[in-house]
Amino acid sequence: MPRPIQATIHTGALRHNIARLRAAAGDARVWAIVKANAYGHGIERAYEGLRGADGFALLDLAEAERVRQLGWRGPVLLLEGVFEPRDLELCSRLNLWHAVHSDAQIDWLAMHKTHQPHHVFLKLNSGMNRLGFTPARYRAAYARLAALPQVEEIGHMTHFADADGPRGIGAQLAAFSAATEGLPGERSVANSAALLRHGPEAGVRADWVRPGIAAYGSSPDFPEHDAAHWGLQPTMTLASRLLAVQELAPGQSTGYGSRFTAEAPTRIGIVACGYADGYPRVAPTGTPVLVDGQRTRVVGRVSMDMLAVDLGPVPQAGPGSAVTLWGRAAPEHGGAILPIDEVAQSAGTLGYELMCALAPRVPVVVQD
Ligand SMILES: *Cc1c(COP(=O)(O)O)cnc(C)c1O
Repeated sequence: MPRPIQATIHTGALRHNIARLRAAAGDARVWAIVKANAYGHGIERAYEGLRGADGFALLDLAEAERVRQLGWRGPVLLLEGVFEPRDLELCSRLNLWHAVHSDAQIDWLAMHKTHQPHHVFLKLNSGMNRLGFTPARYRAAYARLAALPQVEEIGHMTHFADADGPRGIGAQLAAFSAATEGLPGERSVANSAALLRHGPEAGVRADWVRPGIAAYGSSPDFPEHDAAHWGLQPTMTLASRLLAVQELAPGQSTGYGSRFTAEAPTRIGIVACGYADGYPRVAPTGTPVLVDGQRTRVVGRVSMDMLAVDLGPVPQAGPGSAVTLWGRAAPEHGGAILPIDEVAQSAGTLGYELMCALAPRVPVVVQD
């Protein structure tokens, strides 16, 4: 028998979330962001649930090829554009749209020989200061692109730094509107947080929205709002089982560093899940976990292949009992949800990082 750990990708939840985001997007078309192997879900596994989107956006050319191999004929966008000149051949061959954020990328396009003129999105650096042309240089870049026979259509994009927080999107949106004013082409600005929090603001909806994390059922602004507030369902469950039970007498400890010491007689369960499965090693005592669908807490240090949980609230649990590390408990255990965002917060990170870190050794099944 294999180790009992397993991840489940919920196709129906992906479909639900895409429909929810589409409703929030008004008339705009929806890119499903599938970078980082669909936020750790696996592009092939997530595809069925995400194909209700209007296009797929990602970074990696190999991932773009995988989307085409799945039979997707619609738009595919490379969010960082190409990394070297010969990548443009693949763009021509697979009809990939690509972001253009640098002069070098325009130089490469100018030298590129193709019968298939390209669809590009020119990227404005409106304040994030990662990629893109500054407002002062944006129109010159646009003019250069517009003069190239290799380019057929030029859209406009930017990315918000603070859509999830109190600074909001106002200043960046104003910079975007000014830089692109009067230029033809489609607009794309909103990530999950911008779409859900600022959707009604003029201009955010634009022609294309780019929700990533929300499609995967994690809230873009947790803990201010949780996934249920936004009507999103978890798309990834990480589940395992208890391998053993230990009865700690007062003063006894569990795990490396003896970081948890029982003050009273305490039953603890040892779970087949550790940091080599992608569970965060830094998750401290108190991190929420479900046993037989009931909420309890991690105790002591997470080790490579195991972690310990407090069985105080679940006295009926024993070896073989079902453990939900995040996501949804099985229907026979009540189907309770443990939001990945709560586990992430306890570990000092975000749902994004936990999803993306799901380890290759964890078997994954797809369920509707
Ligand atoms: C990752 C990414 C997104 C999606 O962001 P979420 O916060 O996951 O919604 C949108 N646009 C760009 C350019 C990105 O890199």
